[in-house]
Amino acid sequence: MQELTSNQEESALIELEKDDEPPSEPPCPAPRLVKEGLPRYSRSIVFKKPRNINKDAIQRTRAFRKRFFPEVADKDWNNWHWQVRHRICSQSQLKRFLRLSAEEENAFTCLDTKIPLGITPYYMSLLPEDIPEHPLRRTVVPTLHEFFKMPGEENDPLGEDTHSPVHGLVHRYPDRVLLLLTDFCAAFCRYCTRSRMIGRGTINAGGARLEKAFEYIRNTPAIRDVLLSGGDPLTLSDARLDWILANLRSIPHVEIVRIGSKVPAVLPQRVTPQLVKMLRKYHPLWMSLHFTHPDECTPETYKACRMLADGGIPLGSQTVLLKGINDNKETMTALVHQLMKMRVKPYYLYQCDPVTGTGHFRTPVEKGIEIIRSLRGHTSGYAVPHYVIDAPGGGGKIPLMPDYVVGKTADEILLTNYEDKIFSYPLSEKHNENRPDL
Ligand code: SF4
Repeated sequence: MQELTSNQEESALIELEKDDEPPSEPPCPAPRLVKEGLPRYSRSIVFKKPRNINKDAIQRTRAFRKRFFPEVADKDWNNWHWQVRHRICSQSQLKRFLRLSAEEENAFTCLDTKIPLGITPYYMSLLPEDIPEHPLRRTVVPTLHEFFKMPGEENDPLGEDTHSPVHGLVHRYPDRVLLLLTDFCAAFCRYCTRSRMIGRGTINAGGARLEKAFEYIRNTPAIRDVLLSGGDPLTLSDARLDWILANLRSIPHVEIVRIGSKVPAVLPQRVTPQLVKMLRKYHPLWMSLHFTHPDECTPETYKACRMLADGGIPLGSQTVLLKGINDNKETMTALVHQLMKMRVKPYYLYQCDPVTGTGHFRTPVEKGIEIIRSLRGHTSGYAVPHYVIDAPGGGGKIPLMPDYVVGKTADEILLTNYEDKIFSYPLSEKHNENRPDL
């Protein structure tokens, strides 16, 4: 594949910028004008071309479109409805784009497919035709491994269904709830914690169920934080999301609303100026974005994150630690650096939940700790996520950290730093004992 020159790379980004609109008003007070006639808000201030952008992705998507969708105009390819309508949802469609390995082929011989297949054409353009072990391909293409149940695996390992006072509303912590809006996703991840329900059509954003959920939240004053998830909430229409957010905002004790989404990675076309304009009415609104691998950080994804961040939405990432996909320090370092450039704070690194059929994705817990140790001190503190296990049975997230304490005496504690050098820190209790009375 030919390398893109930096001019070609820049024009690809400018192409993506064309249909962009500045936010309806500045996300923070506009700078004071010193001269009459200057624009109040200049886009050139907010857009900076990201460095080290994933050049392969630009070339790959171009070549893919030329080969498989030559007749499709840019305005269709960049339209999220078109992308959703043309998702790859069957083995015969999959075979048009990929040469399937025996493990992938055989996944379709089982009658009861565990997780439905769904891949947007955009995300498919990032998958290599001939490399079944490619990280992105493994996250969305089913294999026979999904049908093995390992000891300790459950269909609902987090016990969400037993903490649901209303269908699709999980109330596990006193002050916050998880509200599932839909079971539809733009792309279905093969390691999904909610594989028991996604794509089944049992959770939808219908008024009757959601009215019951709003009523429960309204009648529970302890709830100050509502997390909207699914499925993917951003696959709903702007009008539906507007209605849901307006209802939640009308509840006085709901202080913040968060949205969990993988859309910027698998369907970045969904992030439109209209969506951002609607979302920004409902601040404080936060977003947790699901990213798995640095190859997901394409120009399209950069643009989607930039629009959300310019809309004043704080962005954090959630990443599941997956064997053979992102379980090494080089990949994780590249991912957190890409996220930081996209203005997404690496927030959580999850140990893969023991969901039925995900044993082939799970790493030893030591691997996660080793990765955190490889990040801490070696990159910006902001770029280091919290490594957590979501405790089976509904125990909540439990953080796991490398142990930096190597010893303790009566006077000092011994600590190791990121370079494995040992430092001592005086124990104040001991020193305070000798402090003279004033
Ligand atoms: S986007 Fe989230 S909810 Fe949807 S399949 Fe992936 S992990 Fe599951």
